[in-house]
Amino acid sequence: MKRFVGYFVYLFIALTVTTACTVNPVTGDRQLSFMSAEQELALGQQHYVPSQQAQGGRYVVDPDLTVYVNQVGQRLADVSDRPGLPYEFVVLNNDVPNAWALPGGKMAINRGLLVHLEDESQLAAVLGHEVVHAAARHSASQQTRNIMLQAGLLAAGVAAATQESQYGALAVGALGIGATAWQARYGRSHELEADRYGVEYMVRAGYDPQGAVELQETFLKFSEGRNPNWLEGLFASHPPSAERMRLNQELADKHSGGVRNRDAYRQATAQLRKDQPAYEKYQQAERAAEQGEYSKALSLAEQAIEHQPRENLFWELKGRLLVEDDREQEALEAFDRAIAANPEFFRPLVYRGVVHKYLGNHRQAEADLTASQKLLPTQLASYHLGELALQRGARDDAIGHFRLAASGGGELGAAAERQLQQLGITAN
Ligand SMILES: [Zn+2]
Repeated sequence: MKRFVGYFVYLFIALTVTTACTVNPVTGDRQLSFMSAEQELALGQQHYVPSQQAQGGRYVVDPDLTVYVNQVGQRLADVSDRPGLPYEFVVLNNDVPNAWALPGGKMAINRGLLVHLEDESQLAAVLGHEVVHAAARHSASQQTRNIMLQAGLLAAGVAAATQESQYGALAVGALGIGATAWQARYGRSHELEADRYGVEYMVRAGYDPQGAVELQETFLKFSEGRNPNWLEGLFASHPPSAERMRLNQELADKHSGGVRNRDAYRQATAQLRKDQPAYEKYQQAERAAEQGEYSKALSLAEQAIEHQPRENLFWELKGRLLVEDDREQEALEAFDRAIAANPEFFRPLVYRGVVHKYLGNHRQAEADLTASQKLLPTQLASYHLGELALQRGARDDAIGHFRLAASGGGELGAAAERQLQQLGITAN
């Protein structure tokens, strides 16, 4: 049984209290809302960082790409029906082709989608669609489901001690991430509304709406290929359809003209496209590691690093593979490189903290794990922070960490409950 954890604000419950009839700012229609505009802003603010962290963190190899994406996004936001929202657009370091909007105008697009687009008008089609979701307050509508129902809970990780393979214990899925990642499932009418007004915003901002038609074509092409990356990405929330393509085509025919900005887009994404072979090596390395082929995985990770030594994910994977090989000192160096490349990403901080603890460097371990918790709480870090607190005699701190770890359930949650029992605490 999962339990609520005291120090997370359980916002969702507060939000279900108020239901009101409001006007959709984009269409002018009346719609039922279960949160106020102020609550939407607060929700977006609160979940922006954890949602980014849970989905790979920011893409830092080429920060100019985020500047560019943000400029295109702001251009659309300026002509939207709610230009006053604190819009923000970031690029996430994630291979899955996806984009999302939090309520209140906080948005993200994955590098895995950018690499498949061909010009700025296609990017504007993605961002325009997401701007409509925010501007039309779709998240506040009762038609939207699955919104952060699990906010404030930790997922179950695995107990490092019970794993035969150390790599397994340090697998990304084993960390027990706080389930704060944004997930919204909009109804079909909201999707069509976002398509329709997204094209409208493109036209108002001076873009060729044909980009929106091509975007749907790209989606259809990839969905037919059943590429698993695509199926778990934008498709899951935005199923492509012949209907959406036809409607976009009708809109585009009405508004011909506008810019494509192909050169600007190609220039802005040049680094990303140049590094694509390295990301493919990285994905192959992860698959090899999952199959237990660690030396093959290590060689692929090293090839990826050779291609792009500023990519934190490559160093992080190398570190995890070195841990598997019992080469802890070298693993620490790899995690150092990962953290230096992107100090604002929680994962290598968790890994380095765990290795420091294993080597008896308790102060460094506690510093790393504490820093990781500020970016994104995990069950693994909570558990180890509990043990570290016990070792320095801080009983109350230990209880707090074990309680949080226990909330995630699973093996590690059970281990945390045993610790609490030894401390004379019955988990509530
Ligand atoms: Zn949508």
